[in-house]
Amino acid sequence: MPKSSEPRSYLVLENYIGGKFVSCGNHIDSYDPSTGEVYCKVPDSGKEEVDAAVAAAKEAFPHWSARSPQQRGDVLNKLADLIEANMEDLVQAESKDQGKTVTFARTVDIPRSAYNFRFFASSVLHHTTDCSQMDHMGCLNYTIRCPVGVAGLISPWNLPLYLLTWKIAPAIATGNTVVAKPSEMTSVTAWMMCKLLEEAGVPPGVVNVVFGTGQRAGDALVGHPDVPLISFTGSTATAQRITERSAPYCKKISLELGGKNPAIIFADADLEQCVETTIRSSFSNQGEICLCTSRIYVERSIYSEFLEKFVAAARKWKTGAPSDPSNNNGALISKEHLEKVRSFVALAKSEGAVIHCGEGVNHLDLPKVNKSGYFMPPTVISGIPDSSRVMQEEIFGPVTCVCPFDTEDEAVARGNGVRYGLSATVWSRDVGRVHRLAQRLQAGLVWTNCWLVRDLNLPFGGMKHSGVGREGGKDSYHFFTEVKSITIKH
Ligand code: NAD
Repeated sequence: MPKSSEPRSYLVLENYIGGKFVSCGNHIDSYDPSTGEVYCKVPDSGKEEVDAAVAAAKEAFPHWSARSPQQRGDVLNKLADLIEANMEDLVQAESKDQGKTVTFARTVDIPRSAYNFRFFASSVLHHTTDCSQMDHMGCLNYTIRCPVGVAGLISPWNLPLYLLTWKIAPAIATGNTVVAKPSEMTSVTAWMMCKLLEEAGVPPGVVNVVFGTGQRAGDALVGHPDVPLISFTGSTATAQRITERSAPYCKKISLELGGKNPAIIFADADLEQCVETTIRSSFSNQGEICLCTSRIYVERSIYSEFLEKFVAAARKWKTGAPSDPSNNNGALISKEHLEKVRSFVALAKSEGAVIHCGEGVNHLDLPKVNKSGYFMPPTVISGIPDSSRVMQEEIFGPVTCVCPFDTEDEAVARGNGVRYGLSATVWSRDVGRVHRLAQRLQAGLVWTNCWLVRDLNLPFGGMKHSGVGREGGKDSYHFFTEVKSITIKH
């Protein structure tokens, strides 16, 4: 520990442009959410840095796109090997930077980041294009797919390396070059990944990472005329600005946005399994997953039993130091976010709702070093009308609301009664009912009797205000390539 008179030493990040680390004149403070202290300085990049990164990506494009998918896949696999070889360092860094538990980073974030590269290294080898005959005209039609060019990739803070690699991997596997901008609040693991690129055989300029805020670096990237494609994951409000900003250039955009995801639980559900999974779906990663459950509708005949069991389980979901393996949750991302999440609980209370456990009810006994961290216990609310902002807006924290329902039609209508449509879970042993609900629910992903089971081949994305477009095996291939129809007459 430095003495108070000594200057503190911070981790100082640099942009990665054209295969080189480049320092930046200005920096943004980045906090360790578990202590509330600044520990890292992130480049505050703007137009100048983005222009340099786009120029490097443009220069690298002809050579990289000319490689075979197999050759590109070899590079992606090597990068996956290197992420795995550096697993523990990346795990510790992700936890410190984001506030999540070390266990979550070790079991979810970093293994999935490596797997994203492996998956797309293989996936890109298995696509075929269409062909049609017009023999009567002596014509053969077929389609080809070509990489788009320089892809602009913008990611949020909740699953930092996981979501960034979910974009980088398919973009470069299909022959594009990229300029990526991670969240200014969680930039460290992206910077660590940059250190592995050269050894993996990623040529200079193929992957460029520019750090900074959305308002400066993000805006410069979205408004750059030489970036024809933007893949964005983040909030619906930011997506609206990105859509407006990219419209004059007719950019291809993919938007993965927020959710207000319902769980619909029928009386015939396996209650033990349902409670266990719905606790995870509500509170995992501090509730900071776009797919987290935040509205739980329970058939009235089992409502009291469910609520009692659910609250008992929520009380056992431990929150505290991210490094302690007995904790299920760590800290929320920032002081501002913690205050926002708490304000929803205060609003619910002021509207007469019951706060069964969590914020304002259970005291967190934190180690001294974590006393100024952004911690909040899992909070369960009931007695709140669907019209409340608590039931309509994305809270993105460890807060969930439980309500009774009487009929299947009512459950569907209430499940669909928000502007979002990302994911939903349905709990029932009745196969017919499960199919009916899956069909009627307005959500890009419907899980029945489970949650977060993902086959990366399948489309991922949301309806309504939860997004535009889908990403996943075939969908990412389509998004990151342009299709052309070609006709040959003999
Ligand atoms: P955010 O929209 O504030 O920021 C996301 C990214 O966009 C950051 O890198 C930010 O710097 C950048 N950005 C902000 N303003 C910008 C602008 N004007 N131009 C260009 N870039 C800009 O979101 P967040 O708070 O970081 O993340 C939380 C949100 O992300 C939640 O709404 C959550 O549901 C959503 N999310 C969605 C998915 C999904 O796959 N659907 C996954 C994870 C998170």
